[in-house]
Amino acid sequence: MIKRIFLSFLLCTVFLLCGCSKKEEQQPDKLSAIKERGHLIVGVKYDTKPFGFIDKDNVLKGYDVDLARALAGKICGNEKNVVFKQVSPSNRISKLNSGEVDILIATMTITPQREEVVRFSKPYYTVGQAIMVPKGSPIETIANLNGKRTIVVLGTTGEKNLRRFAPEARVLGYRTYEQAFQALKEKRAMAFTSDDTILSGFAQDYPEFIILPQRYTKEGYAIAMQKGESTDSLALDINHILEEMTRDGTLVALKHKWVPSESDKQILSKRLKRQIK
Ligand code: GLU
Repeated sequence: MIKRIFLSFLLCTVFLLCGCSKKEEQQPDKLSAIKERGHLIVGVKYDTKPFGFIDKDNVLKGYDVDLARALAGKICGNEKNVVFKQVSPSNRISKLNSGEVDILIATMTITPQREEVVRFSKPYYTVGQAIMVPKGSPIETIANLNGKRTIVVLGTTGEKNLRRFAPEARVLGYRTYEQAFQALKEKRAMAFTSDDTILSGFAQDYPEFIILPQRYTKEGYAIAMQKGESTDSLALDINHILEEMTRDGTLVALKHKWVPSESDKQILSKRLKRQIK
């Protein structure tokens, strides 16, 4: 009897091992597959100015969009060899892991929980958690949000951070940034919390809202890939390209283009004035 149990255990183990290695064998190398196909499929945001958004002429633009084009140029030989697919914070990981997109460049913060299910590149951008309120609001810090209605986008680090720093806040969650900001405009809550970069995209267009000065986290945006051996060479390549882009100034140039600092803005307006004269 013991012999028979041992034998079936042995058979099961062999079967499982074979099954696993077969499954791994079935996963083709992602980088070779992309090169063979000739274009990169990238999940980006369509509602997150200035990283991925549709402008008034219906054109998809932004920092993440430009970064995706630059990557496609390096990997597939031409910046035009890229196909964009819209993702949101709540569906991006499933779109990546189902193979609908090759990579995500979607204002996505590296977190230990996400590292369990996706592979991240090196960070390419650093942001901080901030709070946006209407001008003249009595809210001054995140602690003031306890007991108050506060808007978040579901599935974001903003949602998680709010629950951590203001556990008594009454959380109003939305699926998209458009819906979330609309709710703030309609005064359905006292504040909206998210990455400073994303909130500043709204503040640029709506000066009746301000971003409070304090930052509550330091988060790195990174490119996400599927986990596993199939993305080993893709991850190496992407990290190498990001290092190159840091060295040759491409990432800084993207930052100046899409997330200009106050001094950048002054230089730009002086240049503009000179041109008009
Ligand atoms: N960076 C934050 C995050 O990864 C918010 C932006 C977003 O979700 O796209 O959760």
